[in-house]
Amino acid sequence: MTGMERRRFGKSGLSVSVLTLGTMRLLHGWDAPHDHLPDDSLQSTHAIVTTALAGGINLIETARGYGKSERLLGRVLPHIGRPRESYLLMTKAPPAPTAREMRLWIDDSLTRLGVSRLDLFALHGLNLESHYQGLRVKGGALSGLRQAQAEGLVGAIGFSSHGSLPIVLKIIATGYFDFVNLHYYRFRRTNHPAVALANALDMGVFIISPNDKGGRLYEPPEKLRQLTAPLAPAQFNERWLLAQSGVHTLSIGLSDPKQLALHLEGLRPAPLWGATEQAIDGRLEAIASRSVLQDCGQDCSACLPCPKEIHIPEIFRMDHLVHCFDMDLFARYRYGMMRPGDHWVPGARLESCDRCGECLPRCPRGLPIPGLLQEARQRMDP
Ligand code: SF4
Ligand code: SF4
Repeated sequence: MTGMERRRFGKSGLSVSVLTLGTMRLLHGWDAPHDHLPDDSLQSTHAIVTTALAGGINLIETARGYGKSERLLGRVLPHIGRPRESYLLMTKAPPAPTAREMRLWIDDSLTRLGVSRLDLFALHGLNLESHYQGLRVKGGALSGLRQAQAEGLVGAIGFSSHGSLPIVLKIIATGYFDFVNLHYYRFRRTNHPAVALANALDMGVFIISPNDKGGRLYEPPEKLRQLTAPLAPAQFNERWLLAQSGVHTLSIGLSDPKQLALHLEGLRPAPLWGATEQAIDGRLEAIASRSVLQDCGQDCSACLPCPKEIHIPEIFRMDHLVHCFDMDLFARYRYGMMRPGDHWVPGARLESCDRCGECLPRCPRGLPIPGLLQEARQRMDP
C-alpha cells in the first residue's frame, strides 16, 4: 500500500501521513551503551524504516531521550534507497536551561541523525507550570530553538506534553508553536479541548503512542477483542482518532516490521467512521456508562490534590477500564510507572492513603474514595 492518506499538519503546511513511524521501541534500543549499535538492531531498524515508508508513511519520529534511536536512524537512513527529501524527520529534546545548551542539543540530534536539517523539532515533555513559565525566559530553550529555526536547521517547532489539561491548554494558547504531540485516545479523552484549541490555532496535532499509552492495545483482553470485532481494538482506536476533527497523525511505535500490517489493514475500509464503528462505539459506551467511575480522569478530577500525591482520577480511570473491559494488564502497567513527584506519570502508591478524608467532600458523585482505592489496589498491585 502506498496511497496512505496525508493531512495538512496545521500551519507548518507540511503534508503528513496519517500514521507516523515512532522509533521508541527499536530492537535493543534502550540497552547501554547507547553509542553501541549492534548489527541485529541496525538490520531490524532498516527493515522497519523501509517497510514503513513502503507502506505510505512519510514521517519518522524520534527523540534525544529514546536510547539509541537517533543513532540507529542516523546509520540506517543513508541506506534505505530514498532521497532525504522524500520523508520527514521529527525529533524532540527536553527544554534545555539556556538557549546555548538548547542549540548544543539540537546540534547533537543533527549529528546523531546524520542530517543537516530536521523538518520538525519538539520540546519534549512540557508537563509542568515551570515548563510553561520557562518558555517566557529570554535566552531560554525557546530562544535557542527559534535561532536554530532562523538558521534553517529546523523547520516547524512544536512541543509534546504528558501534563494536565490546564498546562497543555496554556502552552497551546501562547501561540509559540506550530504543532503539539498529545495523549488523546478512545479510552482517554481528557485532552479533547486541547485538540480543539490547537485546531482553532491551526496547529498540527500529533497523537502520542495510541496503542501503548492508549490502552496497551497491541495485546488486548479477549473481552475487548469481542467488543470491537470485526476490527482489532487498536484498529478501532485508530479509526476513532482519525475520525476526530483536527487529528492529523498517529505515532505507531514498531519493534518489528510485521506489526505494521495490522495498522495498514485497519485504515483500509472507507469511510473511517461508519455503521460498523458506530455500533462498536455504542457497545463500549453501553458498558462504560453503567460504571460509577465513568467520569473519573476523563471529565472530572475534582478530588485532587491529595496530600499523599495519589492520582485518584487516573487510578479510577484505569480501574474503570478493568471493570468494563478487563484491561488489567494496562492498569497494572501504568500504575507500575507512577511515581510521586514525577512529571511524566505522577502518582503515589495506593498504600500511602491514610484515609484522611480530604478528597471526600470534593467528589460530586459522593464516592467512598479511600475504600474504592484499596479495592483498586488489589487489582493493580496483586
Ligand atoms: S483519603 Fe486518601 S486519597 Fe483521599 S485525600 Fe486522603 S490520602 Fe488522599
Ligand atoms: S471527584 Fe469523584 S468523580 Fe471526580 S475523579 Fe474524583 S472520585 Fe472520580
